[in-house]
Parts: sequence; C-alpha cells; structure tokens
Amino acid sequence: MTNVFDRLTGQAAVADELRAAARAARGVAARLDEGASGATSLFARDDGTGSDQFEGAQRASMTHAWLFTGPPGSGRSVAATCFAAGLQCQSDDEIGCGECRACVTVMAQTHADVRHVVPQGLSLSVLEARDVVQAAARRPGTGRWQIVIVEDADRLTEQAANALLKAVEEPPSRTVFLLCAPSVDPEDISVTLRSRCRHIALATPAVADIERVLIERDGIDPERAAWAAGVCGGHVGRAKRLATDDEARAQREKALGLARAATRDSTAYAAAEALVRSAEDAAKAISAELDEAETEEMKTALGAGGTGKGTARAPRGTAGALKELEKRQKSRATRVSRDMLDRALVDLAALFRDALVLAVGAQVTAMHPDKTDDIAVPMAAYAAPEQLLRCVEAVLDCRTALDVNVKPKFAVDAMVATIGLAMNDRRVATAS
Ligand SMILES: [Zn+2]
Repeated sequence: MTNVFDRLTGQAAVADELRAAARAARGVAARLDEGASGATSLFARDDGTGSDQFEGAQRASMTHAWLFTGPPGSGRSVAATCFAAGLQCQSDDEIGCGECRACVTVMAQTHADVRHVVPQGLSLSVLEARDVVQAAARRPGTGRWQIVIVEDADRLTEQAANALLKAVEEPPSRTVFLLCAPSVDPEDISVTLRSRCRHIALATPAVADIERVLIERDGIDPERAAWAAGVCGGHVGRAKRLATDDEARAQREKALGLARAATRDSTAYAAAEALVRSAEDAAKAISAELDEAETEEMKTALGAGGTGKGTARAPRGTAGALKELEKRQKSRATRVSRDMLDRALVDLAALFRDALVLAVGAQVTAMHPDKTDDIAVPMAAYAAPEQLLRCVEAVLDCRTALDVNVKPKFAVDAMVATIGLAMNDRRVATAS
C-alpha cells in the first residue's frame, strides 16, 4: 500500500496541509507523553470566528476539531480517515506510511482508537451523540489520539449538535474530532460548531483524476473508466459503481429517460412510478442484507437465538430491544431509498442543464456527455432556454420536497407534471 494521503484524488493542497498537521501533531503528542500540562495551549487555537485564516506556521499546526466539507463524492470521509491514519501512523520516517499496523487498521476502520460515526437513519439523535462524546473522552489505548470521525455531521439533530459542541469546546487533551459535512452552510452545520473547527474544503475532483483512480486502483478497463469518470458528476464512488454495477447503470438510464417520458402524458406517470419503485427496491435489497445480520446478532446477544440448551426462550426485555432495532432499520431503509432517489434527481437536473447550456450556446463541459446527441441536443432544439430552466427548477423543487418528507410518489408526480407543462408550453417556444 502506498502513502495514505495519495488516496486523496485530485486534492494535493489538502493532502499537504493534513500531512503537515499530522507531523505537528506528533510533536504535540510527544510533549504530552513527557507530561506537559495545559494541553490545549500546545495546540493552535482557532480565533473562534470561524475564519479560514490559517497561514504559515499555523497551517502546519495541529488542532482538536476539524471540519471536512465538499460536495458528495469529493471524498470528505476518505480525507478524514486518511488524516486519522496520518495521526496514528507508527512509521518513524513517513507520515501516513500506509504499511504500519496503525495505518492499515485505521484505513480498514478497525483501529480501536478511531471511531466512525455514521448516522444510520435520517438523523443522528442526541442519544447517539452522547454515546460518541463518552467514547471520545476515553484515553487512547494503543494510538496517540482518541479520534472520532462523524460522517454526515449535517444529519446531527440540533440537540445532538449541542451535545457534541460541549465536547468539542473542552476536548480531553488526547481527543480529536473530525466532522464531515457537505458545506459550511448553517443548514449543514451549526454556526457555533463550525466556529470551533478548523475547516478543510475539498474540491470536486477532475474527470482525468477520477479516470486514473478507476484504472489504477480498481483495475477498470480504460474505455469504461473514461465513460464513468465523465458521467459521475465528480463523485469517485459513484464512478466506480457505474463502471462495475449493471443495476446502477440501469437506474441512471431510468432517471435520464424521465426527461423524455415527462413530455407525454401517456408515459409520464408510469416512468415516474418506475423511478420511485426502483429506488425503493434497490434500497430494500441493500437494507435486507444489513437487517438480517443485525437482527441475528442481536438475538444471539440477547440469548434469544440459537437452538442450544437453555436458549429456547428469550429473556425479558428482548422484545423491546428488537422493536427498537426494527425502528432503526426502518429509518435506515427510508434514508437509503431517499438517497437513491435524490441521486437520480441530481442526474436528471444535470441533463436539463446540459440542454440549457446548448440552448444558450455556452461553452461548458456536459454532465452527461454520452447523452448529448441522444437527448440534450434534441431537447435544446425543441425547447427554449426558459422552458429548460423551468425543468431544472422543477427537479430541484422535487428534491426540496423530499427533503421535507413529502411522499416520494407525490413529489415525483408533481415534478413530472411541471416538466410536462414546461416542455409543452408552445407559447414560450414560439415567442422566443
Ligand atoms: Zn503508518
């Protein structure tokens, strides 16, 4: 394995900054080992205004709380994980060597002093957050630091964010928090929490960078890699899925097909329904696998499973615990299905945007280059920019509706209706 920071596709500046901080952190850890007190003074203090003015020596310093932001797929949690490996790395002459036991276990997410918190449901509850805070307060076992990585910190409930804030404000000397969120927007992360963190902004990786990763890391053949990199919207994980998974490609076709289907009443609603159903089915398949293993595990833990002597009857309280688990699983299934539908909507909006770009004659790289001749060019010829813009808005409105828990079927039906109206509005088309 190569150096862990090499995994940060197209993020050279970020890799440099994190490597420097991890190096500085070794010095801090050594001083803590020598019994230095007032640990926080060993760290660079953020000025509390949340500004990103970390310059010079400060840039190469260490701090207790970090916020990694970037669009989905830019590798926020990968960057946080690599940084954690860099912090725990045991190699004497390299930071994040990728070969020592610490690096290997952090990257495999099995290091005892690096905890990954991934909200399974639609949000991270205050109870889960308290759990995290408690774990973070422990002294590291074998590592230099006790590290907590909160993926999707934008899914913290307000109370959960407050519980976490207290720990971030007064962290134990050996504790490091790495939070990940889409952006620093207050919708994604509370202003106070954000102001306590040093901010690392990841950029969307370039198509060529993604292509190279697919070929070199995943062994995908060059032609397919080029295609997947071109249509993935800068999302490395999605590029890999599109390159390797028939189901993912079919789902994408369904989403993009909606652009044409929506213009005809006879096909619009069936296509909408098919899209919603395929997202639900895919989510069901993913969840079923996770659920079964979890339920078995819990039953065994509670003594309800198995056929051995004395395990025939479940002890008291089992039913309650299982019900609680079922509730969590249901919430997770809903989230997976929402995420899949949202992905489809992002694809669809991008297709309308491609047509819009062509209609106004702008020189911008297409988001779906493989659909340019097939769909985007005819759409641009058929509809005025104004109509296409209304379609983009209809898709974005649908995403917002799903976000506030409108039933997917209703939200997608409404979107399809609006797209149909916009595209068939001959008034606008002839006026322009
Ligand atoms: Zn290492």
